Amino acid sequence: MGFYLRPQTVSDALTALAGGRYTVLAGATDHFPARVLTRPAEDILDISGVADLDVIRVDAGGIWLPARATWRAVSDAGLPPFAGALVAAARQIGGLQVQNAATVVGNLCNASPAADGIPVLLALDAEVELARLGERRRIAVADFVLGNRRTARAPDELVLGVHIPAPALPARSVFMKLGARAYLVISIVMVALAAEFLPDGRIAAARVAVGACSSRALRLPALEATLCGRFPDPDLVQPDHLAPLRPIDDVRASAAYRRSAALTLLRRAVTSLDEPGCGPT
Ligand SMILES: Cc1cc2nc3c(=O)[nH]c(=O)nc-3n(C[C@H](O)[C@H](O)[C@H](O)COP(=O)(O)OP(=O)(O)OC[C@H]3O[C@@H](n4cnc5c(N)ncnc54)[C@H](O)[C@@H]3O)c2cc1C
Repeated sequence: MGFYLRPQTVSDALTALAGGRYTVLAGATDHFPARVLTRPAEDILDISGVADLDVIRVDAGGIWLPARATWRAVSDAGLPPFAGALVAAARQIGGLQVQNAATVVGNLCNASPAADGIPVLLALDAEVELARLGERRRIAVADFVLGNRRTARAPDELVLGVHIPAPALPARSVFMKLGARAYLVISIVMVALAAEFLPDGRIAAARVAVGACSSRALRLPALEATLCGRFPDPDLVQPDHLAPLRPIDDVRASAAYRRSAALTLLRRAVTSLDEPGCGPT
């Protein structure tokens, strides 16, 4: 059994990380289920008591999701329509008990190919804020997640939170997930689409990301370019747009099924941009 630290300030947390190798824990809903029947050996830095890391802030510049922001807090925060994909993901991750404890940042740092939050953060163009003693930096989520369970975080760094920039134009985003059942399920495929709209309803800018179809969630730049300047139309999404994806066969689905499901979900996501309640606001 290793050390267990529960600091109350960011400064104390960073001092601990500078002085030894700790596993950072937030909700621990990824960490502990992966270690069932094993004796905890590592030193734990539990950030669940750290002040200043739990208040979600929304201002003209965007949304700040601090490291302790749970999925439940995201659901309840009354976020603006451009973050609709994040709220939709928050309501589909695990069940209520998991949503009450599990954090957005934990989902990101765990870097599972099946993490529902990562395609959403990619589509929302989010940045990760990291800190080590005396130093802070921000990097794009696309540069933070390097692969299956691999991130750009150094061992002495703490992720303080994630910033989602406010879009320049009226915008909406959608999240769609396919699993073997509706709830409490690891995704077979999930897609996130964020779009900004011109006054006439055409798409001015789009970001599209697909998860569980590669070792990490990926954006689809060719599809994003195709959507720009067009009215939302599912027929704009073509199989060639999925070329960057590298789905695998596993216990949940075959690669071919994943590819086909991704195409269908992407078309549904584009269609839903045009549905009542999902237009530009
Ligand atoms: C029953 C059940 C259902 C689930 N359903 C889903 C689901 O539908 N979709 C889904 O995507 N996930 C699901 N999960 C997985 C998990 O709940 C989520 O990924 C969750 O968001 C992880 O957050 P956490 O705070 O619990 O992370 P933790 O377990 O505390 O941490 C996860 C990883 O991130 C690191 N970490 C956490 N915070 C920081 C930080 N601030 N700085 C640096 N490193 C950090 C930890 O060291 C660890 O490696 C489920 C889990 C369970 C048990």
